[in-house]
Amino acid sequence: MDEFELIERYFRRAVTIPAGSGVELGIGDDAAVLKVPAGHRLVVSVDTLVAGRHFVQEAEAGTLGYKALAVGLSDLAAMGATPCWYWLALTLPAAEARWLEAFAASMHALARRYDMVLAGGNLARGPLAICITVAGLVRPRQVLRRDGATAGDAIYVSGELGAAALALQAPRAPVERLCRPKPRVELGLALAGLASACIDVSDGFGADLGHLLTASGVGATLDPAALPLPAALVALPQRERAWQLAISGGDDYELCFTVPSAREEMLRRQLSELDVRVTRVGKVESRLGLRWRLVDGRNFQPTTMGYLHFGDIDTRAARSG
Ligand code: ADP
Ligand code: MG
Repeated sequence: MDEFELIERYFRRAVTIPAGSGVELGIGDDAAVLKVPAGHRLVVSVDTLVAGRHFVQEAEAGTLGYKALAVGLSDLAAMGATPCWYWLALTLPAAEARWLEAFAASMHALARRYDMVLAGGNLARGPLAICITVAGLVRPRQVLRRDGATAGDAIYVSGELGAAALALQAPRAPVERLCRPKPRVELGLALAGLASACIDVSDGFGADLGHLLTASGVGATLDPAALPLPAALVALPQRERAWQLAISGGDDYELCFTVPSAREEMLRRQLSELDVRVTRVGKVESRLGLRWRLVDGRNFQPTTMGYLHFGDIDTRAARSG
């Protein structure tokens, strides 16, 4: 099968383009032509998953197809955008029908759930890597940015933290959260007009909250005992280790957001209609930095806050220099 037959079979034919999708020209031309409705902004993000770095080489194709798109959906959710279109750039060592079948089927299934249309892509031969670009729409006043938090805002996080990190460390831990993160798209949409800032948690809760606080020019104090932990982490004998995993483990794909106290009641009302738990974990302060303090006043000092993609290289360069 040549690349055009592959595209036709696994990607073009599998996509139906519903009326109103905004795709004037999709797969098959040199580029896509999209209609952006008046009064909206286009929100775009790209992510790459590389074999041996973001997943093991033997990872199941269906898991990869799901996760590569879910990661992009999480970014759109964090911006408060409605998902619309995506592009797939796939680098494959070989064209294996069974692999492509499973990969495409789970990717298309997730896309359909969010009414997303595959608008194009690319195929190349090389070490396995999956690059997905996602695009969505949002009204200008409903954009959820990182830089809007102010002192006094409450800090919330959705779902649970640390389940994916535990799955990587403990062979018998549940892998659902690692393999099939549920993008918080509905929550992101519900936060419009409520949250003052928002970020999705991909590289570790502490690290990502740190980005939000830095962008906003503020700091925070958090209670590690308030972090929402999955049962497998609650069951750990040392609770400090559970907190550490929840703070620094990556791949959660939850939303972390801040809410001015005057809007917290509204938040509770909005969320009663959604099937997602959110937990208040701390408070924004004008003093810069992130502090972890228990209700009894004791401090907790995490050893790391999250994953740095080039952290190891930086250290080596610093040492040799
Ligand atoms: P070009 O060489 O002009 O960039 P390609 O030959 O790479 O075009 O692709 C032909 C068409 O197929 C384009 O519309 C492109 O968007 C689409 N396409 C290529 N690879 C994929 C893929 N993996 N998934 C979806 N569409 C794809
Ligand atoms: Mg071309």
